[in-house]
Amino acid sequence: MTVTVTAATGAELRCRAWRQEGILRMLENTLANADDPQRLVVYGSTGQAARDWPSYHAIVAALRELGDDETLLVQSGRPVAIFRTFAHSPRVLIANGNLVPLAATPKEFERLRAAGLTMHGQYTAGCWAYIGSQGILQGTFETFAACARRFFDGSLAGRVVVTAGLGAMGSAQPVAVTMNGGVALVVEVDEERIARRLCTGHVDERIDDVASAWARCREAAGRREALAVAVCGNAADALEALADRGAVPDVVTDQTSAHNLLHGYVPSGLAVRAAADLRERDADEYLRRAGQTIARHARALLELDDAGAIAFEYGNDLRLAAEAAGVAGALGLPGFVPLFVRPSFAVGRGPFRWVVLSGERADQAALDEAARRLFGDDAALQRWLAQAPGRVPIEGLPARICWLGHGARRRMALKINRLVREGALQAPVAITRDHLDSGSCAYPARETLSMPDGSDAIADWPYLNALLNASCGADLVAIHQNAGTIGGSASAGMTVICDGEAASDERIDRVFDVDPGIGVVRHASAGVAEARTYLAESGIRVPPVAEGSGE
Ligand code: NAD
Repeated sequence: MTVTVTAATGAELRCRAWRQEGILRMLENTLANADDPQRLVVYGSTGQAARDWPSYHAIVAALRELGDDETLLVQSGRPVAIFRTFAHSPRVLIANGNLVPLAATPKEFERLRAAGLTMHGQYTAGCWAYIGSQGILQGTFETFAACARRFFDGSLAGRVVVTAGLGAMGSAQPVAVTMNGGVALVVEVDEERIARRLCTGHVDERIDDVASAWARCREAAGRREALAVAVCGNAADALEALADRGAVPDVVTDQTSAHNLLHGYVPSGLAVRAAADLRERDADEYLRRAGQTIARHARALLELDDAGAIAFEYGNDLRLAAEAAGVAGALGLPGFVPLFVRPSFAVGRGPFRWVVLSGERADQAALDEAARRLFGDDAALQRWLAQAPGRVPIEGLPARICWLGHGARRRMALKINRLVREGALQAPVAITRDHLDSGSCAYPARETLSMPDGSDAIADWPYLNALLNASCGADLVAIHQNAGTIGGSASAGMTVICDGEAASDERIDRVFDVDPGIGVVRHASAGVAEARTYLAESGIRVPPVAEGSGE
């Protein structure tokens, strides 16, 4: 039987109160935006919203009857109990995909999953906070905005960014670059993907000759025009061609699926179909050729870096693959988190997002306007809010992501609850976030890569984040493992429903202090300078601990 899930809209309640109804609509909205709704898979190949359909229907039924002083427990996508708690307690607590560390291997996880005992929750799939493609677009926008702040004059106008990959995530790159005023030259081996991205407006033009594409991009940058050009070809060949002619981009990176050389990375000399044939026929030969190509690709990135480009790895494990292919120095290429995201995380700035539960665009516009007014001094946010309504498609319930810092999140959340209370919106609003945030994720390959004190693998912080959010009365709190690689990460999610009640003001006031606040503390404790400076003036109290043994 085919089940289609869409999120309810309007002001009518199906549950006993808005806190339960809001969570139910978030679950429905997550599935409404899913890649493969029949399998309950939301994104990331296997990230599910519920373990199976009977579990989904049981969660819905439980939310509909859940009392105002009760908490529903969900264990890896299956509802397991309802307990009496307090009115200000979370209405839903979730634990997804957690295994004891020694058992957290892909093989054991798969065995347990196949036995129906667990599921993969990814980040926002298993805690019902997924809102479609805006998440990756805004994160990519923030990365390039931070790059502009750090290396240029706050904008990418007049700059050329060269990258590769127009896949599910990679296609956000040209949009994010142009929204920051820059020019993007994106190499993609698959011409069907280029055709699709031309139709959807992710890229403006296709020019296959690298020299001509480069000249076109430089010309547009010279006029400070935003432009996105796709080049059909192999990334290694294109970067070598640029390096050979002394064409040095301002920024160079990559989002081919280099983390999976066999299935995500195309060797030089092969078109997409020929690559698929070779993969099928002779996987070893495919991997040998992919290894040769990634080595050339990484060497070209390093050469452009030496020549003055800002070169970085964009979360696709290209450095590891290149190192394995024999490129000494590949690991010296900086990762995007330490370079661009960490300074934001250090001051609690991260992916705050709200979802309009009425489904009404007028509510969305009112909230965009409220953010514009509250944060007039945040240039990147103003740039995003000026363009997002026109460039971000509405997928399911209207939603907006704004990266806000500690302090700013609390102001915006309280403002939203006040707008609901005053009747300025047609229904309540959910506030949630990605797990890729300041204090809610331990993932040594990405979010916590290269922490100054070497604490990359310490997983205490996301658990403290979840405990704090639950203590302060977030409506839904989740802990996940296996969001990235099996056994590779621990993370926490949370959602608050702004129902307009005064009692919710109290919970909101605390939750939006502690949620980013623990991120500031995590980064300060690791020795990140921006966090230590911010912490000293933030009002967050840290018990002094004397250096040395203290005996
Ligand atoms: P995808 O598989 O959908 O797309 C990859 C694209 O690269 C495809 O269109 C493919 O045709 C193209 N490609 C492959 N080899 C190529 C080559 N040699 N030259 C030119 N084009 C080539 O992947 P995606 O979802 O877009 O993600 C891309 C990578 O970025 C992944 O490794 C992903 O894990 C990583 N990623 C990381 C983050 C993060 O750290 N926050 C975010 C998004 C994506």
